[in-house]
Amino acid sequence: MNISRTILLWMSENSLLKNKIPKLKFVRKAIKKFMPGETEYEAILAAEKLLKDDIGVTFTKLGENITQIAEAEKVKNHYLQLIQIIKNKKLNIELSIKLTQLGFDLDEEVCFKYCEEIINSVKLNLGNTLFIDMEGSSYTQRTIDFYKRLKTINQNVGICLQAYLYRTQNDLSDLLVENSKIRLVKGAYREAKEIAYPLKKDVDKNYLDLSKKMLMKIKENSIRIIFGTHDDILIEKIIKEAKYLNISKEHLEFQMLYGIKNEYLKDLVKRGYKGSILIAYGNSWYAWYMRRLAERPANIWFVLKNIF
Ligand SMILES: Cc1cc2nc3c(=O)[nH]c(=O)nc-3n(C[C@H](O)[C@H](O)[C@H](O)COP(=O)(O)OP(=O)(O)OC[C@H]3O[C@@H](n4cnc5c(N)ncnc54)[C@H](O)[C@@H]3O)c2cc1C
Repeated sequence: MNISRTILLWMSENSLLKNKIPKLKFVRKAIKKFMPGETEYEAILAAEKLLKDDIGVTFTKLGENITQIAEAEKVKNHYLQLIQIIKNKKLNIELSIKLTQLGFDLDEEVCFKYCEEIINSVKLNLGNTLFIDMEGSSYTQRTIDFYKRLKTINQNVGICLQAYLYRTQNDLSDLLVENSKIRLVKGAYREAKEIAYPLKKDVDKNYLDLSKKMLMKIKENSIRIIFGTHDDILIEKIIKEAKYLNISKEHLEFQMLYGIKNEYLKDLVKRGYKGSILIAYGNSWYAWYMRRLAERPANIWFVLKNIF
């Protein structure tokens, strides 16, 4: 793993910096590159524009590893209210949640009850899918078990898998079954070389191998695959493989983060593929933002530019 990425990921986990950095004015200015604003209303305004251009939208409220279970209830209530707002505005927006923001570390049963409430409300009011983000590797197995348990109650749940983990080949074989909804990403956390590919080229190769495995299944209508990446070289390889397998364009769905390579995503949509953007909002953006800097350390120059 390259050194600046390691430092930035270490910073993302440091609680002292977590308190200090978000107060800096130039950092607050710089985060605008990755989020339309801290409130759900700013997120909705951005979503309305994207939806008009046939770009799908997924929302996520930032925050993770809460320390009081009462916070989980607030997050759950926030999502339930948001679902009503989205419904009233007749917008087709999906949600993606982080389990550790809903009490996964503190009380798994409470977390499950809250997720069940959210997923039932999503099904009833929006009729689309609730996605579960994948967090650091200490949560991988528990998240998969939790997802499977939620899926027995409601099929409209999806999960994210990370190509940098060696285990993902097996996890994918296990999870690629009827009614699966899977978002494949490279992985954003600091992981040991014993469990994750340390070199980017190997992560990219594994992503492509996993994608090929998914493409073989993609024609089954009950399965939904989302390629969550900004890597245009990889995307074009996936498209080439799909053409070779005679898979039609509407089966391919690419998802990117707000503010990153969004023009390319629009271009993919114009070419006939499905495209969507994940919009993050909320004031707990520190750890998430540091992971975005770690993905592309050149972003730090953008932060520094804001000092002046
Ligand atoms: C929709 C979506 C959902 C995600 N959900 C999760 C999740 O649940 N769990 C998880 O661990 N990770 C998640 N991620 C993050 C993911 O794991 C990667 O860290 C991130 O997408 C960067 O990898 P990449 O595939 O874009 O490829 P890279 O090889 O890192 O990037 C390819 C190109 O994209 C551009 N780029 C990438 N990142 C940035 C950036 N931050 N700023 C500016 N340009 C950039 C650069 O031009 C770069 O050359 C998600 C990503 C997306 C797109």
